[in-house]
Amino acid sequence: ILSVRGVAKHFGGLKAVNDVSFDVLPQQIFGIAGPNGSGKSTLFNVMTKVPFGPTKGEVRLNGKSIMGLSAHRIALAGIARTFQRENVFASLSAIDNVVVAVESHLPNAPFAEQIERAEEALNLVGFPANMHNSPAGSLPIFYRKQLMIASALALQPKVLLLDEPASSLTGPEIERMKQIILRVRDNGMTVVLIEHVLGLLMEVSDQLLVLDQGVMIGKGDPITVTRDPIVIEAYLGVAHE
Ligand code: ATP
Ligand code: MG
Repeated sequence: ILSVRGVAKHFGGLKAVNDVSFDVLPQQIFGIAGPNGSGKSTLFNVMTKVPFGPTKGEVRLNGKSIMGLSAHRIALAGIARTFQRENVFASLSAIDNVVVAVESHLPNAPFAEQIERAEEALNLVGFPANMHNSPAGSLPIFYRKQLMIASALALQPKVLLLDEPASSLTGPEIERMKQIILRVRDNGMTVVLIEHVLGLLMEVSDQLLVLDQGVMIGKGDPITVTRDPIVIEAYLGVAHE
């Protein structure tokens, strides 16, 4: 469903992402791991043109290149994402945060449809119904992460890109996040999941890609990849300290 070919992003002399290629099959969960600064978020940024496209390479969705499209068009084409930081509109209610996300991409959709999409997305992530009207800024981090995911899901994407959804969560919250990710997949979506630590990735990923300094140092089934001495040397020794 998603094909990334030879994608690179250079900032001056820094090769933040350097010749990355991978394919994701429909309804797979594709994990991306790597240490701080290895280029994980930059990869999502260039895939979604937020705020910039790649220096080189191509991204295809269902065989069609999305390279000529704006960030807005990429979202409409079916690739939605979350960001590493829990960006919410603090003074808006939880549900309005999701409605605003829908409205920004589908300004002509009837208001009733915008609300319906928002409610459906909030239900899918298990956001508590009695908190729909709570100001987003007052919500604990787990709920803000749920809102961010719901805002992406409300666009009814084919592919959902998640940038470290489990960071800063407690153990039980990570387990709940895992259930959300599995539910999204079970609802027919394809997920690309960035995580800094391996635990969650190993549990849910069908395939795993490991980046180090912008370069792919491992790709394939998670068990084989994490047994590769190159991956262990470059990454796991650090990640498991
Ligand atoms: P983390 O685990 O900390 O989130 P990451 O794998 O997501 O790290 P990136 O944020 O993609 O890493 O950063 C990759 C490299 O690119 C880093 O060296 C970073 O400083 C650099 N970088 C990222 N964005 C920019 C930018 N807009 N301008 C210049 N350099 C950048
Ligand atoms: Mg990052």
